[in-house]
Amino acid sequence: MEEEVPPTRILIAVNPSSIKGYPHASISSRTAFEWAVEKVVRSNTRGFVLLFLHVQVPDEDGFDDMDSIYASPDDFKRMSEREKTRGLHLLEFFVERCNQIGLPCEAWVKKGDPKEVICSEVKRVQPDLLVVGCRGLGPFQRVFVGTVSEFCVKHADCPVVTIKRKAGEAPQDPVED
Ligand code: AMP
Repeated sequence: MEEEVPPTRILIAVNPSSIKGYPHASISSRTAFEWAVEKVVRSNTRGFVLLFLHVQVPDEDGFDDMDSIYASPDDFKRMSEREKTRGLHLLEFFVERCNQIGLPCEAWVKKGDPKEVICSEVKRVQPDLLVVGCRGLGPFQRVFVGTVSEFCVKHADCPVVTIKRKAGEAPQDPVED
């Protein structure tokens, strides 16, 4: 009798679009997902499990641009609920796409510095492969804006594939996504 081979687990790091915001996925993470489905999974949906990780940056939608803001403790409770929901809506997009093609998946949200959290989640869940998008930033932007994909290639404890956006899909400002 043939032994059952466990499915290949692919972790895909996904983030919201910097142009459209939640719940829209960034161009790079959507491209990474589509690449994994079209080029790796193909029609073998039983052979894979996709794991979607979204890391929420505490200050991302925060108050950086304002001088001051007054709020009650209840406002903060509501705020964290709202942020959690936003993250879940982003993941819903990917989970729905997987459901449509019968591809098993899991999805979760974490908080923190995306590059650090992605690498620590790799340590924890031990996927067979990590797939991340890549905006293809130049050397200057890599220093001043920072690149998640480059950090993951260097520090994640598993094979990493980075997928660049298609030439025609990248916004004029490459930092945008
Ligand atoms: P880079 O252009 O090198 O900064 O890499 C962009 C890619 O990093 C995205 O396509 C995602 O795969 C990943 N990424 C960036 N921010 C996050 C985040 N907040 N949560 C999860 N993945 C992220």
